[in-house]
Amino acid sequence: MGEGFTPLLRERFGALEIGLKAEFASPTLSFKDRGAVVLVAHALARGVDRLVADSSGNAGTAISAYAARAGIECRVYIPASTSEAKLAQMRAHGAQVTLVDGTRNDAANAAIADVTSTQTYYASHVYSPFFAHGVKTYGYEVAEQLGWKAPDTLVVPVGNGTMLLGVQLAFAELAAAGIIESRPRIVAVQAARCAPLASAFAAGRTTVRPADGKTVAEGIAIAHPARGAQLLEIVRESGGWFVTVDDDEILEARSRLAARGLYVEPTAAAPLAGALKASALGAELGSTVAPLSGAGLKSA
Ligand SMILES: *Cc1c(COP(=O)(O)O)cnc(C)c1O
Repeated sequence: MGEGFTPLLRERFGALEIGLKAEFASPTLSFKDRGAVVLVAHALARGVDRLVADSSGNAGTAISAYAARAGIECRVYIPASTSEAKLAQMRAHGAQVTLVDGTRNDAANAAIADVTSTQTYYASHVYSPFFAHGVKTYGYEVAEQLGWKAPDTLVVPVGNGTMLLGVQLAFAELAAAGIIESRPRIVAVQAARCAPLASAFAAGRTTVRPADGKTVAEGIAIAHPARGAQLLEIVRESGGWFVTVDDDEILEARSRLAARGLYVEPTAAAPLAGALKASALGAELGSTVAPLSGAGLKSA
């Protein structure tokens, strides 16, 4: 449906020069389309009748849309707190939506319990390698749009870490193919109110303890990311670090974007908020790229 090859906008905020990749310009208005198109194509090739997914929002909308496109039945389990706009989008695509009273992990368990036959496919954006291999096109495009160079710094929002995993795959492949010489450091951004990975990283732990807390950045409010240890390793190995941003900083970054015509959902302003914070704290980021990962009308 035209997923991929989103614009890379060159912006300046005070001392920070940054490339912002307009992922909200995707068919279902978030970068999740990159993963969903590959995941659903795989399900279609396997001839399944039915997809089951769990999501805090945008993965569910993307999988619902591609399932509709592929003519495959789809049920999505989501936490009851998910924004109305995302719910309406899933229902419009004909997905059966089940609201789960509880955490994001309770929604995942409900989805897994629903996979009772081989004709049902667990379309998990968290566990499926097909999703990550779709998202890696984000990294290919960043390199291509910079003239087949890696930026010095990639700023990445992290909840379950599908984008983090995608960029790691992309730049590892580009380096192995001899297309880029050096790999980017990854500055991973979490919301201060729900930052299990950032806490583990700061404490030098290699495993993640569940966090809790509500934040305006609902798309990265993942209390206990399934791939936690792997995500910590990717950031550490890249020479990067974690930044946490308060809800006030996220909303401020969202307003600064809107003031120049870019309307994104709060989650999608977190990477810019993180870059601004790292820059204000004196980090030398060099050439930097961050995503505008989802559209503003998702959570107006
Ligand atoms: C899903 C999502 C993220 C975070 O992605 P993870 O794969 O959970 O780390 C960031 N921004 C938006 C808009 C999202 O939908």
